[in-house]
Amino acid sequence: TATPTEPEAVVKKYLEELKSSPADEDCIICMEKLSSPSGYSDTCESSTIRPEAVGRLTSCQHSFHMLCMLAMYSNGNKDGSLQCPSCKTIYGEKTGTQPKGRMEVSTLPQSLPGHKDCGTIQIVYHISRGIQGPEHPNPGMPYTARGFPRYCYLPDNEKGRKVLELLKVAWRRRLIFTVGTSNTTGESNTVVWNEIHHKTEMDSNLSGHGYPDPNYLDNVLAELAAQGVTEDCLGQ
Ligand code: NAD
Ligand code: ZN
Ligand code: ZN
Repeated sequence: TATPTEPEAVVKKYLEELKSSPADEDCIICMEKLSSPSGYSDTCESSTIRPEAVGRLTSCQHSFHMLCMLAMYSNGNKDGSLQCPSCKTIYGEKTGTQPKGRMEVSTLPQSLPGHKDCGTIQIVYHISRGIQGPEHPNPGMPYTARGFPRYCYLPDNEKGRKVLELLKVAWRRRLIFTVGTSNTTGESNTVVWNEIHHKTEMDSNLSGHGYPDPNYLDNVLAELAAQGVTEDCLGQ
């Protein structure tokens, strides 16, 4: 089934309009009462969604002004997905703003500290400098790409291979990097990691992004899930 991307269609797909609005609840998008009109009534116009309309997200059941949700969606990258601002549940397929590039995978015979019983998967990300698109913070301006190619490592065991497959999904959905300001260098308009941690050191741990780290695979699986990338996405 085709995912709608027309803003009003997306909002109506995932929010069920309530007959009567909950009296005592606030909308956490605009902070107004759900029983009064959307705080975005002046800035966000719609011919089919009334300022008083309140909708409930179909799965997590959190409620918001439908117009507030429309404003939130229109302010994002408009990929047909919605994320609940309250509990972060993702509706549809979240995509990011990662610039174009290449993801390369190979295996190495050496093992990683803490994973002596197997070899290593090496991922190499290639991204070059370019011009920001409409999805980026400063469209039309250049972005830099520092420290590429970036090398990352996973243990070549069952869980590591599963993480690899999910990272491939995240790469296709443009979720691994974004364009923004680097926490490490302070540089803006540059390509930076985006919420999914990678191990960039193989046999040292100078940056804190190396091995051993017994929790790493579980942590990165949780970070992938927070972006909507789970085992359900495999084999699709
Ligand atoms: P950032 O500093 O804005 O941080 C974003 C996320 O990436 C954070 O979660 C952070 O914990 C994580 N992160 C920071 N350093 C990391 C590292 N070395 N390995 C794995 N994850 C790391 O993001 P950024 O600017 O994309 O990342 C900074 C890192 O990128 C640097 O430490 C370096 O490894 C690399 N880099 C290299 C150069 C270079 O010229 N060689 C330049 C810039 C960045
Ligand atoms: Zn609201
Ligand atoms: Zn929710």
